[in-house]
Amino acid sequence: MLARYLIYIGAAYLLSFILIMMIYRLPREKNVIKYQAACDECDNHVSWWHFIPLFGYLFSKGKYGECGHKMSVSRLLVPIFAMGLAAFTVFQVKDCEAYNATEMYRIIVLLFSLTMIIIIFTDFETFIIPDTCHIIVIILAILAMVFEYTDVLWGILGGVIFFVGFYVIAWIAIRKTGNKDALGGGDIKLMGVCGLFLGAGRCLLGLIIGSLLGFIVEGIILRKIRKEKGVAFGPYLAIGMIIAAYYGEAIINAYNHLLGID
Ligand SMILES: [Zn+2]
Repeated sequence: MLARYLIYIGAAYLLSFILIMMIYRLPREKNVIKYQAACDECDNHVSWWHFIPLFGYLFSKGKYGECGHKMSVSRLLVPIFAMGLAAFTVFQVKDCEAYNATEMYRIIVLLFSLTMIIIIFTDFETFIIPDTCHIIVIILAILAMVFEYTDVLWGILGGVIFFVGFYVIAWIAIRKTGNKDALGGGDIKLMGVCGLFLGAGRCLLGLIIGSLLGFIVEGIILRKIRKEKGVAFGPYLAIGMIIAAYYGEAIINAYNHLLGID
């Protein structure tokens, strides 16, 4: 059991190097594959060790030695979140009989959550949800259906309902408010691919959780700060979807039980 924790946490630590690169480069349309030791801000060459996940940030105290520019806080937070999610995946999916847990489930759910982490950071910082993330979730959705994490019919239904539903809502919102950014294309695609991955039921749950969270944080806590910059809805949706991926089945079953449906 301990070996499994170590393997997952180690893999997540290594993956966080790629996640950070995607978070920084995808919204800026920079080459993700090519390794480049350059400052986030001025693009000047900096030492390679700055880019060691977590430790690079800690040793340099969050500043590039050469130019003194601040490092993005994602270089500190992403490895921590990734390793935390990896440990949580081993801990949680182990006990989940409803999922008939297999190693493949753990891997699929963890990769989905890590993709949501990319979205949380890119949307919060730049208001962009990269299409690469949508493509990754579509691939994971196909795997999820093959390995029966998601029912094929519920998945397709979820994808269609949430994509079309959000498309219509956005269309109405744009017509009513005249604000083209009322609901971004990234959010619409995100809902569609999450519907495909989680299935209609769990995706609806993720949407409800994400909306509540977004309402509380943006509407109450960040209201003053965000007034000029606008609101990113994607990070809250992404957090809702992570919760739905781990607990969706259990919450829906408990809810049905409460209503006496099952
Ligand atoms: Zn710099």
